Amino acid sequence: MGKLVINFPGKKKNHKTGSNTCEYCGSALGSEWIVYREKKYHPLCFENHIQLKCLICGKAINGEYYEDEWGNMAHVEHNGKKTKHCSFCTRIINDKEKNLVLSDGRNKICSICLESVIFSREQIEISFQYVISLFDKVGFNGIPDSVKIRIVSKFQGSEKNPLGSHTSGITKTRIITYSNGRKKREHEIEILEGLPSIEFNAVLAHELLHVWLNEQEINLVTNAKTEGFCNLGAYLVYSTDSSKLSEILLQRMYKNYDLIYGAGFRNMLGRLKKSGWKSLINEIKFSGK
Ligand SMILES: [Zn+2]
Ligand SMILES: [Zn+2]
Ligand SMILES: [Zn+2]
Ligand SMILES: [Zn+2]
Repeated sequence: MGKLVINFPGKKKNHKTGSNTCEYCGSALGSEWIVYREKKYHPLCFENHIQLKCLICGKAINGEYYEDEWGNMAHVEHNGKKTKHCSFCTRIINDKEKNLVLSDGRNKICSICLESVIFSREQIEISFQYVISLFDKVGFNGIPDSVKIRIVSKFQGSEKNPLGSHTSGITKTRIITYSNGRKKREHEIEILEGLPSIEFNAVLAHELLHVWLNEQEINLVTNAKTEGFCNLGAYLVYSTDSSKLSEILLQRMYKNYDLIYGAGFRNMLGRLKKSGWKSLINEIKFSGK
């Protein structure tokens, strides 16, 4: 997560060569100044505005440090012990900022992601409508409005997530067959609590593609195909959104080593890039593979 960088400290100098003004404030330098990355600064201008500072302890960074994908920096020595990264956006979490570790220890959420956490009925409904509108545009239809969506602290009937830690949602479809042969399908989606809205939408889109498959009784046979296909829903959500967070979450999908959710997804994405949504949907629908 993030990258390891080295910062060379500024050097104190007191014999003048070249320009005699501070690179930060533009006014003349005094008898002492700091040279940093070949530029000169007043010691105070350097300390207050230029010097790299650690997000966790607030002290100057000289030497090795970690930088997250948002440009936040922290001393390497905090790593492992004190450095918390947001499980969603990967930002380094400052201990002083409002943050939350979910009760099961599964995820840590930073203050920024915390603001968009989905929890209410209304928010779920807005997310549902949003995802359905994205599906409409690419040609998925037939997902019933009657799908029940619930936010849970753990999946019902299971102490642990049955599919491993890489899934935050689960879809259950019950098919009721009447004596006259008519069928009714009931779909229920459970999504783990504490997901920020973009992540929530992506998980919901993934689960709604399970609903789409189940509604048409399409069986893609292997888990890699099924989950890889459903992950195209998450891909659709992230790739439609132009935020940096979506980009980070999309990159995480591309790099996922999991054979089912990662490799399965990349296979399906390859097919999507080759055929486009309409053809891929038809292939899945009519050939079932
Ligand atoms: Zn200055
Ligand atoms: Zn520090
Ligand atoms: Zn975050
Ligand atoms: Zn799935």
